[in-house]
Amino acid sequence: MSQATISTTPSLSHEQIRTYQPSPNCLEGKTILVTGAGDGIGRVAALTYAKYGATVLLLGKTISKLESVYDEIEAQGGKQPAMLPMDLESASYAEMQQLENLINKEIGQLDGILHNAGVLGELTPLEMYDVDIFSQVMRVNFTSVFMLTQALLPLIKAADNGSVVFTSSSVGTTPRAFWGAYALSKQGVEGMSDIFTQETQATTNLRFNCINPGATRTNMRAHAYPGENPMSLKTPEALMPSYVCLMSDDSIGVRGQVIALQPK
Ligand code: NDP
Repeated sequence: MSQATISTTPSLSHEQIRTYQPSPNCLEGKTILVTGAGDGIGRVAALTYAKYGATVLLLGKTISKLESVYDEIEAQGGKQPAMLPMDLESASYAEMQQLENLINKEIGQLDGILHNAGVLGELTPLEMYDVDIFSQVMRVNFTSVFMLTQALLPLIKAADNGSVVFTSSSVGTTPRAFWGAYALSKQGVEGMSDIFTQETQATTNLRFNCINPGATRTNMRAHAYPGENPMSLKTPEALMPSYVCLMSDDSIGVRGQVIALQPK
């Protein structure tokens, strides 16, 4: 195995990541794949990465939503994105490997992956949790995240400073009653980020981190808290400085962190 040069750039603190001020074009030359790019936080992340100069690969389930994000990126003058329709609940590992081949052939590089797609499942005691919904949530939020990361590893390891960002949640950091498979899937994601970090940090520049967006004004949040006034919540746009930071070279050296954007 060839030995990569380990970067000595100092890490940023979590506070520096939360208050990061991106410079224009700080993602120029990078190709970033965003899962769940059609809606909510993923949609805004895709638009924002494009605004800062990245070529964005839009992976998601609903094609019409990906098409509208594609059109918005073109309208804002961003680099031509690519749409990668994929249902993470049913996609096979072979399909994910084909995706890796396709990106390699058509674009030739991958610098960042934002694992953002997620489903909420049920909010109910584990004793009553529907086992089919349990398995669906684990598949979308956890197993497919592992499968896709592994399938894309050859490509992202070849990047100078690849960055993989997982999406956790406060109930992933600290388990909470009634959050069932969602909480367990997010705990698993935090563990996955940690293990990938340990297994790669001695030999590559590739970095893995988790972001916990905290309460944010999206459809998922509205389903989880139907009585809450959405206007009392921060917007996905407000999270973007940190999302950009973790994809930019300014975060080289930040590894194995769980960055909470709404610290308690
Ligand atoms: P939304 O429900 O608004 O968006 C979820 C996205 O995931 C959609 O683009 C959806 O696509 C996609 N998705 C769902 N299932 C699949 C699937 N089977 N295959 C491919 N894509 C799929 O959620 P948020 O934007 O709120 O959440 C984004 C991430 O942030 C999630 O991981 C969530 O757990 C996390 N999070 C959110 C918080 C919040 O307050 N909003 C708080 C903490 C964490 P489609 O629309 O086509 O179904």
